[in-house]
Amino acid sequence: MFGPLTIKAGTSKNNKTGSWRVGSKPQFLQKNCIGCRLCVSVCPEACIEASQKDKYSCDYAFCKGCGLCVVACPKQDIQMVEE
Ligand code: SF4
Ligand code: SF4
Repeated sequence: MFGPLTIKAGTSKNNKTGSWRVGSKPQFLQKNCIGCRLCVSVCPEACIEASQKDKYSCDYAFCKGCGLCVVACPKQDIQMVEE
């Protein structure tokens, strides 16, 4: 019945959700990080990765700028900045 109206569910890997950002993006300061991975846990786009145990960053092609990682970080090592 709803066949013509349904579409296949998308994933962040298929949709460049980074285009959803409006004006600001997270900046990973990489100064006080303790490698707790809370930012990784809360990111709805699963776009945060670590190059070393205390060097985290995100893929801006998929970061939609929600700011959850900023709120979650216990060391205030992520801040929102203007694009
Ligand atoms: S702002 Fe942070 S939590 Fe939100 S999508 Fe971007 S990297 Fe993920
Ligand atoms: S939440 Fe903050 S301290 Fe924890 S891994 Fe992410 S950047 Fe590092």
